[in-house]
Amino acid sequence: MNELSNISVIRSILEKHGFRFSKGLGQNFLVNPSVCPRMAEQCGAGPGVGVLEIGPGIGVLTRELSARAEKVVSIELDDRLLPVLEETLSDCENVKVVHGDVMKVNLKELLENEFSGMEVVVCANLPYYITSPVIMRLLEEKLPLKAITVMVQKEAADRLCALPGTRACGAVSISVRYYAEPEILFQVSRGSFMPPPNVDSSVIRLRLREQPAVEIQDERLFFRLVKAAFGQRRKTILNSVASGLSVGKGTVEEACREAGVIPGARAEQLTLEAFASLANALSA
Ligand code: SAM
Repeated sequence: MNELSNISVIRSILEKHGFRFSKGLGQNFLVNPSVCPRMAEQCGAGPGVGVLEIGPGIGVLTRELSARAEKVVSIELDDRLLPVLEETLSDCENVKVVHGDVMKVNLKELLENEFSGMEVVVCANLPYYITSPVIMRLLEEKLPLKAITVMVQKEAADRLCALPGTRACGAVSISVRYYAEPEILFQVSRGSFMPPPNVDSSVIRLRLREQPAVEIQDERLFFRLVKAAFGQRRKTILNSVASGLSVGKGTVEEACREAGVIPGARAEQLTLEAFASLANALSA
């Protein structure tokens, strides 16, 4: 099955199984033979490393991961792909396919049971309809992961990896940077997929921090504050936070003074440290 990244081999396998792509499940399969080896190489897969893959499709990336990692566990929601994967991964003894929804599987338990004693990384060409929820779930559950290397839409990549204090920054950029050090690894054109999507993609890598980037007294309040500030990003911090968190303007002004934040600033002008100081001042 070494020819799996060859488009005519992929076509004939899909035809043989009578497979029809589901748009709803974000099924755009990689058919550019150079992309999967690059992803597998850069995600940290190697001896002693377990890889969690989300959405193996017909297994193109899975095979590359299997060749490098100690073990690969791939979660696939579409049961029509299970017989396909059985065929395409028949010679990959270190791969286990789990049928399920990545948003519902108990990931903590899965990692404990499947990757005992191994370092664990995530590597996936993510279904685009749940890019941010999947990434935020992986980060917020504080799973013992070293890194998350994923292909996402280019615009999502730019947002996820945006630096605080820049126009591209949004609530998700702040949240990602709190837990991880994000970087864009390389771009992938829409023509690398079957069927081709309407947008280009990027592969990003999030290296998880051992400790969050800033010290927060009340994490829940910190994330509510960030959401409130970017929820009305054209408004000043004073107004967006007061209305988003339902607190008086006087309280927000006082917290801004304590945190050294200009109340008339916009969310996109604040650094991660500024958000942290403001959250800590508000929680005090
Ligand atoms: N890895 C393959 C590749 O690169 O060619 C397929 C990637 S395709 C963009 C996304 C895959 O995720 C599909 O196989 C799809 O069926 C699967 N998928 C969609 N939603 C899912 C979910 N909630 N949980 C697990 N897998 C899902």
